[in-house]
This record gives sequence, C-alpha cells and structure tokens, in this order.
Amino acid sequence: MKVIFDAAQKRHYPGFFLTSGARAPNPETPARADILLDAARAAGLTPEVPPDLGLAPAASIHTPEYLAFLDGIFARWQRIEGASEEVIPNIHPDRRGGGYPLSAVGQAGYHMTDTSCPIGAETFPAALRSAHAAAHAAHRVMEGEGAAYALCRPPGHHAFKDLAGGFCYLNNAAIAAQTLRASTPRVAILDVDVHHGNGTQGVFYDRADVLTVSLHADPSRFYPFFWGHGDERGEGTGLGYNFNLPLPRKTGDEGFLAALDRSLSRIASFCPGALVIALGLDAYEGDPFAGLSVTTPGFRRIGAKIGELGLPTVLTQEGGYVCDGLGGNLVAFLDGFGATHRVAPEGCR
Ligand SMILES: [Zn+2]
Repeated sequence: MKVIFDAAQKRHYPGFFLTSGARAPNPETPARADILLDAARAAGLTPEVPPDLGLAPAASIHTPEYLAFLDGIFARWQRIEGASEEVIPNIHPDRRGGGYPLSAVGQAGYHMTDTSCPIGAETFPAALRSAHAAAHAAHRVMEGEGAAYALCRPPGHHAFKDLAGGFCYLNNAAIAAQTLRASTPRVAILDVDVHHGNGTQGVFYDRADVLTVSLHADPSRFYPFFWGHGDERGEGTGLGYNFNLPLPRKTGDEGFLAALDRSLSRIASFCPGALVIALGLDAYEGDPFAGLSVTTPGFRRIGAKIGELGLPTVLTQEGGYVCDGLGGNLVAFLDGFGATHRVAPEGCR
C-alpha cells in the first residue's frame, strides 16, 4: 500500500486555538505528519508525493465563494489595522438571513464555525496539497490498487462545502468519495474519529449515492456539539443515508467494536463499490482529547474488521494528536487492515 503525502502539507502551522475560552497551543501540528509518516513506513507502506491537481479536487466539493475566501483572506486580513496575525473569526452568525458580507471580518465569521481553524499564509496551499493526497489515493484505488492511505494533514472531516472548522479546511474524505464516484455508483464513508464527521455529513446529507457513517463520542457533551446525534438521518433523497453512532464518553474497545459491527452491517447492505475510511486515531485512550478509550490492540481489531469488508478502500487521515501512542496506533490499524483486506471480485460492483 502507498502512503500519499507531500512535505508542503507541513507548512501550515497554526499558532493557537481557544479551548473553553482559553488560549492554548494548537494541537494540529506539523509534528503529527512526521510521526504518522514514520509509522506508515514502519507498517511497510511506500511513500508517494501526489501530483499537483490544482483546484479541481477541492472544487468538486466546495463552493467557488469559499475557495476564493480561503485563497485571499490571509492577504486581506493583513491590511486590517491591529488584526491578529492569523485569520480568526470573532462573529459566528446564524446564516439563515442576510446576504454575503463584503468585509474580511464578516466573511471569516461566515466561513468559519469556530476558532480552531486559523488561517495563516501557508494554510490554503497546505490544505490543497492535503486534498491532492486524498484525490490521488482515490485515483490509485480506481487504477486497481486495493487500498491507499492519504496522509491528509491538515485534516478535513469538519469542513462543510463552505465552512472551515475543527482544524479542517477542505474535506479530504468527501473529495476522495466524490473522486471514487466516477468509477462506481455508490460509495460509503466510515468515520472512526472520536469527533463526529459533521462536515462530511453536511456535504452528503441530501444524497443517496454516498452513505455517511460516523462513530464518535456523544456530541451532547463533546465537540462538535451541534451535529452527530442518532436522529440525524439525512434529508430529501438522502434520508436514511446518514448513520450516526454516538458513544458514551470513555467507551472502550468492546463498545467501540460493537458499534463498528453495526456500522459495517449498514455499509454491507448499502452495497458500495468503494469505501473511504475517515481515519481519526483520537479515539485512543491516551489521546489529549480524551473522548473515548480505544487501546492500541483495539485499533488493530478495528482495522481487521474494516478490511474484512473486502472493498476498494481509501484511508484519509483525520485526527489523532501527539501522544506516546499516536504512531503505534497507525501501525496497529494498518497491520490489522492489511491482514484481512482482500478486494472481493464479486459483490455489488
Ligand atoms: Zn477528531
């Protein structure tokens, strides 16, 4: 299997975020990418730099207005006297009324759900390369490679069509799924990050061709708070094609694996031609976010169960923050996945 990554993804280096209102170092650091790349190599994966795919992958999911915002907002922000070094919103409107603001501050509020996605000079170029990694991994799988791992950093699953949030700017898992749709009528996305994949849910909420499934810590007391409940099932033609499994805080391996079984049954009944795993590793018991309590051997079992589906699979990196177990958890997941994953020639494809 290949690990798709470009060192330019590390140039995005956000300074801080607000947690419970307090300024704290932003945990979505370039060091994460180094740890995960070393781990992927240790698991036997071959590094590959994605080609420059331009704006096309991002434009397959995100609005032109939002992409223009990401491209230009840092330079515009520098012209505001006394503004912060990085773009950080200080207003978060309910957008059901009113128009699109012209001011940089207004647009930051319009396009950013929270304060944990600051935009610096290198943010958009790095996010584009992260999206290229996801799209290229999908291309590799469409060419016949059974699976590919996109080391997406910055991550993507909290990004909506026109909203950044939660360290995410471009939705890499959605981009991978949309790319795969060119080769198969149905794609499933399974998100195992400790946080609900709210952006991914939002992108596909009214669509029946992309099934979105997310296992995560119960949002009634955990980020992203406003999405991820069990009664969010999709809308319009997408009704029934979004499946959330919120888990009680500190759920361990057995509870997580039981929910995973329900997820995999739903995915199997959907009969997708390809699968995207939004691979957060922050459900780990030692992760700084401390939402769930999955162990390192647990990640191996999770990988093995997902591999048994036998689907062409793109893995996109989501969360998982610097702690002693981070690299070992990726190795464990990849080992488990590799031990069982054989693309089945039959099935719904
Ligand atoms: Zn997360």
